Amino acid sequence: MADVIKNKALVLFSGGQDSTTCLAWALERYEYVETIGFDYGQRHAVELDCRTRLLARIRAEFCHWDSKLGQDHLLNLSLLGQISDTALTDAQEIKFKASGLPSTFVPARNLLFFTFAAAVAYRRGLSVLVGGMCETDYSGYPDCRDNTLKALQVAMSSGLDAPMVVETPLMWINKAQTWKMAEEIGGSALVDLIRSDTHTCYLGDHSTFHDWGYGCGTCPACELRILGYSTYMSEAV
Ligand code: ZN
Repeated sequence: MADVIKNKALVLFSGGQDSTTCLAWALERYEYVETIGFDYGQRHAVELDCRTRLLARIRAEFCHWDSKLGQDHLLNLSLLGQISDTALTDAQEIKFKASGLPSTFVPARNLLFFTFAAAVAYRRGLSVLVGGMCETDYSGYPDCRDNTLKALQVAMSSGLDAPMVVETPLMWINKAQTWKMAEEIGGSALVDLIRSDTHTCYLGDHSTFHDWGYGCGTCPACELRILGYSTYMSEAV
């Protein structure tokens, strides 16, 4: 009984490189997996389109995962627009922009995402939450940190009076190692799928396809992705 519960996971799936790698990780590891995404009016609605395409391709091209992959949930969190930095004071806006974070930055966004995910997981009988947060070359969000998420795991399990395990398989690896992980899990087919159909660009630029994928090539998210992919490729040679 315990094993069955433990083996059902909900993946926070945005349609980006990290969360797609996490989805593959979860599909390898658990017997049943559902996905959840959040629509909060983000500039990269492109990313939400990617979710649908990725899920369809995973079902079609990775047949052994198809039967494990359950329902996808898309929650409308448009209220986050009310607390994004464009809605905050001038002083806060300047501070956030100087840090290079996107203009839709929402303080504590991941805490909110996990809490909503836990509520859905509880209702769906899932007891593992999987997220692509990473401390190694992240953008500086304190709510992505390992200790934050460990504390949240305790708070959510306590508040729901049910086990709610938070798994973050990318926490201590860099972007090049994330590509490598994808290769180890799903071979070159998964690497190609992530390269061509995931999206991480802060500007939502989906016009030009580069060898590392779509994006503007100059925003902080693209720079990280380019560096990660080129390092992965050079080490793979
Ligand atoms: Zn970009």
